[in-house]
Amino acid sequence: MIRKISLADVERSRKKRSAEYIADVLAIGVVDGEYLLIEEEKLFALRVKHNVDQSLTELASSATTTLEEWVARGFPIASAEQYEQRRSICAQCEHGSTLLGLHRCSICGCFAIKLRLASATCPLSKW
Ligand code: SF4
Repeated sequence: MIRKISLADVERSRKKRSAEYIADVLAIGVVDGEYLLIEEEKLFALRVKHNVDQSLTELASSATTTLEEWVARGFPIASAEQYEQRRSICAQCEHGSTLLGLHRCSICGCFAIKLRLASATCPLSKW
């Protein structure tokens, strides 16, 4: 899946991110007008490499992409077994974190609700 990131957001992120991370992001992306188009898998790999958590802007973008995919596939809901398997994997994952008491993935930024969406995937292909 391709992630579309505003170049203005990339510039703004220079305040919080390392110069090496920004350089890597720009190197893997393709500029399309005012946006940078990046393969999601490559972006997630960079977040792992640079130990970068998602900003709120990035989280909104990630959630939008996940929901668009879910709607496009007809709102599929994970089975109870599939949900439990995903929950168990996330609970043991080094990239799991907690925000406001809710489980959250620091790579894709999504909350546990994503585990209920059958069309959703782990950004590191763990489930
Ligand atoms: S979605 Fe994947 S990377 Fe994120 S916490 Fe769960 S297992 Fe880890």
